[in-house]
Amino acid sequence: MSVSVVLFTSDLRVHDHPPLRAALDSADSVVPLFVRDDAVAAAGFATPNRNAFLADCLADLDASLRERGGRLVVRSGDLATEVCRAVTEADADEVHMAAAHSRFAVRREDRLRRALEGDGRRLFVHDAVTVAVPPGELTPASSDHFAVFTPYYRRWAQTRLRGVAGAPRRVGVPEHVKGEPLPARADVPGVSPGLPAGGESEGRKRVTAYWGRGLAAYDDTRDDLAADATSRLSAHLHFGTLSPVELVHRARRQDTPGAEAFVRQVAWRDFHRQVLAARPAAARDDYRTKRDRWRSERTASADIEAWREGRTGYPVIDAAMRQLREEGWMHNRARLLTASFLAKTLYVDWRIGAAHFLHWLVDGDVANNQLNWQWVAGTGTDSRPNRVLNPVTQARRYDPDGAYVHRWVPELRGVAAPAVHEPWKLPGGDRAALDYPDPVVHLSEGLDRFRRARGRQD
Ligand code: FAD
Repeated sequence: MSVSVVLFTSDLRVHDHPPLRAALDSADSVVPLFVRDDAVAAAGFATPNRNAFLADCLADLDASLRERGGRLVVRSGDLATEVCRAVTEADADEVHMAAAHSRFAVRREDRLRRALEGDGRRLFVHDAVTVAVPPGELTPASSDHFAVFTPYYRRWAQTRLRGVAGAPRRVGVPEHVKGEPLPARADVPGVSPGLPAGGESEGRKRVTAYWGRGLAAYDDTRDDLAADATSRLSAHLHFGTLSPVELVHRARRQDTPGAEAFVRQVAWRDFHRQVLAARPAAARDDYRTKRDRWRSERTASADIEAWREGRTGYPVIDAAMRQLREEGWMHNRARLLTASFLAKTLYVDWRIGAAHFLHWLVDGDVANNQLNWQWVAGTGTDSRPNRVLNPVTQARRYDPDGAYVHRWVPELRGVAAPAVHEPWKLPGGDRAALDYPDPVVHLSEGLDRFRRARGRQD
């Protein structure tokens, strides 16, 4: 009887899963394997929020496989060693997995391929699993990747996506290949209290609910901080509990005005991935250096701490930073504002902010996080690298009633909009009665410092 191994990584689902489908087509039975890779923990990627979400995803994947007569085999250790061990135990000929694109993932895949081939086995890597259009598939005439989103999106939108593969009916797993107990969310310390549940079933429910509830108005409401009207599907896309290809096909079928704007936003994931695949160093180094001499942990520790804690004295910034800790997620407009505030108004190294986000975000993802941070810091792909978002005017526009601030900054619940966005302007007695800090910097001072710093290079 022939056996194949399916290695699950960031694709924790049974619907539209090309590696699983290929493994089932190539063998009589399969070993669905997930390795809790020591290298992921050592690199700092295995944070409490993502570990807790992952535990839900593995439990749900195991349940789906059991419904189909199989189960998930979980192992811990070095990925290549554990895959080779499972291959030997199962006497498998082939391993199937999804392609990934970060430098870390590419090296890991190379190492695994060498280990397997040394042992006479083969690794098959399947495209279009964690992205809708894989990196390298679309390139401009003069470069190996697109550096500007709009022309990329024009080509992306015309690209024919592969069809969606259904979930398999039956998954036979050899009895004698055993795994360890599944990790449990309850055993993970330090998790945000409002962290949502993970897993493919949850993700699919969320999509269906969103089509009925939010998609039609997506374009009008996605920047409204208090409405919270975006899909909140990012963690599901990050862990692959939803297939982006299936999501895009389904969104296009909705035939509502919001669908196109939503699909365009999903395309940003692919855009960032193709940038990172072509320039892996951009995970750490400036994609386009502005020769900044950033303030650092050493020179700006009090400002950085105030930002992390949500105590900057700018209500919309503080609301967002507190939402991040409470939910492990932050609204996109709030990510833009808090990142601009740190990198430009406080002129602190974007890497410090990106690391804090990566620690807390349940959707924390190297390509999306590092390249969005660079976009905001003006070292990435933004064509207006020196624009600075004003947290007061932005708050007036995107939180006009102050409802978002009131939700996350209870000290300001008694202050109505528009004063809630500038509490330092309240009359002396009212101001003194608030247990809320003064601004860490005047906006004009921050702006001058940033302009001087960026001007110096010219
Ligand atoms: P929706 O508005 O419903 O969008 C649908 C999907 O499109 C999202 O789930 C996401 O997968 C994708 N998407 C939307 N906007 C972007 C974008 N700008 N870049 C890439 N993909 C996008 N997103 C992450 O998934 N992981 C991150 O680590 C991350 N870090 C960010 C850091 C900063 C400083 C900024 C400005 C943005 C970051 N984003 C990140 C992008 C974006 O903020 C989130 O994807 C979005 O807020 C998730 O909420 P949602 O699922 O409701 O989005």
